[in-house]
Amino acid sequence: MSWEEKIRKVEPYVAGEQPKEKNIIKLNTNECPYPPAPGVEEAVRSLAKDSGALRLYPDMDATPLVKALAAQYGVDPDQIFVGVGSDDVLALCFLTFFSAGSEQEPLLFPDITYSFYDVWANLYRIPFRQVPLRDDFSINPDDYIPAVTGQKNCGIIFPNPNAPTGLELAQEEVEKIIAGNPDSIVIVDEAYVDFGAQTALPLLEKYENLLVVQTFSKSRAMAGARVGFAIGSKKLIGYLKDVKFSFNSYTMNLPSIRIGTASAEDVEWFRETTGKIASTRERFKKELTALGFEFPDSKSNFVFARHPDMSGADLQAALRARRIVVRRFNKPAICDYLRITIGTDEQMDKVVEALKEILGR
Ligand code: PMP
Repeated sequence: MSWEEKIRKVEPYVAGEQPKEKNIIKLNTNECPYPPAPGVEEAVRSLAKDSGALRLYPDMDATPLVKALAAQYGVDPDQIFVGVGSDDVLALCFLTFFSAGSEQEPLLFPDITYSFYDVWANLYRIPFRQVPLRDDFSINPDDYIPAVTGQKNCGIIFPNPNAPTGLELAQEEVEKIIAGNPDSIVIVDEAYVDFGAQTALPLLEKYENLLVVQTFSKSRAMAGARVGFAIGSKKLIGYLKDVKFSFNSYTMNLPSIRIGTASAEDVEWFRETTGKIASTRERFKKELTALGFEFPDSKSNFVFARHPDMSGADLQAALRARRIVVRRFNKPAICDYLRITIGTDEQMDKVVEALKEILGR
């Protein structure tokens, strides 16, 4: 075998574009249009005055951040795991919980979903099965239940709301999947839950095999700080920590721990900002409907929409020509849909104006 044949070859995840030019309306990677909580700026300033803090390794348990999250969500600090964005947390979850899968017991996730899942599964050589969504993009819980399908699995993961559709799976349906899989770990990826969807966190009291993963990237306006976390039973969190400390003890850097803590402590800012984005989204949906767009009912900070009169590629290019950047995926079933992040009211007004012009309304 040559050295090249010995290499683990993977096809990497392709993230949304981060355009270099100024004066664009950037609605392609679901960032928050508002600055983070005021306490974050203060924490950054005090860090600048205390550069000596960088001399030492950071707290490898990110204790202040974990405590602030435990207080907000009413759980024990031992039920929380934090990482470098939820991508880091999810990648470790795949390694910890799913890497013992087989062709007979594959990992299950929807066929239209976060496109990092199949990348991690391939990276860790985890057999997986992509379960088709219904025609209306909804998840059918029965498709994930061995007693119904006759097929076992080594685990289940899905976002709720799903990405890139924005569609929420009702709490009872989420519970049906967890209750129907007592022998598997079920991960609910709640990257977009804070904009009006229901969290699965209350189900943790009943199910030890449930793990909920969330992020500071969208609802806390901190995509650049890379902070994500998981909440689950002490047992699951313990196994996750064992793998993390076998991989890299110091994933979270000290500045991110400090500014993440400042953000987590400001629950009022969090509620106000997510509420504002949800109301802009509802207004934007009405405008889209009036223009003839079709879209699943989003509960996230984006809308996934198509127009019957124009292809997704043409619409995306026409918006780009007007300095508005949105995301589109090349999969045949969804290539005509644009995933449009919810920005400020002013930004969304400009999007509506541009769409009217493009469609000649
Ligand atoms: N899960 C889903 C469903 C996402 O869309 C994203 C954002 N790309 C993530 C997780 C990861 O976000 P982050 O690493 O910024 O926390």
